Amino acid sequence: MRSDVFQVLLTALDDVGRVFDHVDTSRWPPGELEALKRIGLVRQATGGLHAPCPNCDEAHIESVTIRRTPDRPPRYFIRCPESMRVEVTAEMCVGWQVDGDGLAKAVSTAMDLKSVPKAMVAGRLWRLGRTPWKQTTREVVLATRLHDADVSAVVSHIGVGGRAIIFVPHHPPDDRVWPGRTPAVVALSRVATLGADGLVLDVAAIGESVADADAAAETRSAIPTDPEIKKQIIRQQVKAEIKTHLEDDVLVAAYLEFGSLRKAAVGLTGRLCRTVTKDAIEDAVKRAGGIKALKEMSDTGSVARTVASQSRDRVTKSLQRR
Ligand SMILES: [Zn+2]
Repeated sequence: MRSDVFQVLLTALDDVGRVFDHVDTSRWPPGELEALKRIGLVRQATGGLHAPCPNCDEAHIESVTIRRTPDRPPRYFIRCPESMRVEVTAEMCVGWQVDGDGLAKAVSTAMDLKSVPKAMVAGRLWRLGRTPWKQTTREVVLATRLHDADVSAVVSHIGVGGRAIIFVPHHPPDDRVWPGRTPAVVALSRVATLGADGLVLDVAAIGESVADADAAAETRSAIPTDPEIKKQIIRQQVKAEIKTHLEDDVLVAAYLEFGSLRKAAVGLTGRLCRTVTKDAIEDAVKRAGGIKALKEMSDTGSVARTVASQSRDRVTKSLQRR
């Protein structure tokens, strides 16, 4: 359970402005939030008080009105469509965010690096220091949201020699984002766990990842134009694309079944035994035409057919693109 929360935090690092509200944190194991605060992996979210509604099943989050009376502690209220006004506790009004600076420090400490992490792009890219590697040293970097549109501005701070070791929260970005030779990219989700006093890194796994990445970069630069290899690579990409679209159908079906993005995320997470975020459901729903369109289709009972045929269309298109 503990490691699940850490994986969720890593996923959140690749999202923009993800906030964990009281409903989220109350599902974490007892003491987990305190431990994460102590390690420095979460910080209080900025920007107004918001609280999840404790009153109805809608899972809506509202801004909080504070009522102050002399000689009494303040009281907190939110609006709810079902009963106008609902009182919430102070604790429920606080949201938490993953602290990228804190994670940079934790990785640096776990790697036993001597220098203090330096943010090159605020909240996105940190230079952590140099680590011994064979007879020399290599720069270690932490980077987040490398799937965002502004990725080239972020990675421009990394050298072009492919020598850096780059930690990312989850999924490495497409190789084409790198300005020069592809560096060694290591997913923290695969090599990091949360110990009692901080982050624990699997050093052997990191070494293996880096050696593999080096070998792959070597191969790529040796045979960049071989048409047969190119064909193989394209085939792999098409397969990956088909896989995403099939997954879309599962996400959309879950949304229709559970009736809300949040409930679908929770339900699917339990069913698939891996973390499915609300955002992932929302993205899939958007790709399928949006909530309104799905509601209309589901009302007429034609949604299953529509979703299925859409996904077939998309697969056909991606095959044609070859
Ligand atoms: Zn409500």
